[in-house]
Amino acid sequence: MGYHLSSMPQPSWNYSSPNLTLTTKLNRNLIRFHFTMLHPVVNTKDLPQTTKLLKKHCPSVLSTKCNNALNLPFKEEVKATEVAHLFEHIILQQMCQEQIKEGYYSAEFSGRTIWETAAHPLRIFTIETSITRFHLPFLRPALKKSLALIELILDSGQNQS
Ligand SMILES: [Zn+2]
Repeated sequence: MGYHLSSMPQPSWNYSSPNLTLTTKLNRNLIRFHFTMLHPVVNTKDLPQTTKLLKKHCPSVLSTKCNNALNLPFKEEVKATEVAHLFEHIILQQMCQEQIKEGYYSAEFSGRTIWETAAHPLRIFTIETSITRFHLPFLRPALKKSLALIELILDSGQNQS
């Protein structure tokens, strides 16, 4: 069995709650999240408080760019999209905010969310981002804020159904 220095264990940030689990994979040039929904609701269409909570806690996320099938602005797309896709937009926006808080003139991150339907029958998503190791100092606070907001949104749907 071959063993190379490049296959040494990577640092990772994992999170789990009754609502979701998140695994962070640090690759050389990109950071990938594996997001598994445990909460019964997968789509924001069943979380009617979503826009209101975003306006209150992270309004800038509503004006982020989004490439979606119908070319909807994100503030429309967010009314009916996968929670994992919303998480992608929130974490990228929080990363920008952390970077600018540290004195950077501008910040820009991109990402895409893939629903792993082919590989998994369950609600497992992969989120690929342009976040790199260079941005790691911003990732921990950004993740903390993003996960807190997603939990708040998911908990707002607790009385649904
Ligand atoms: Zn999007």
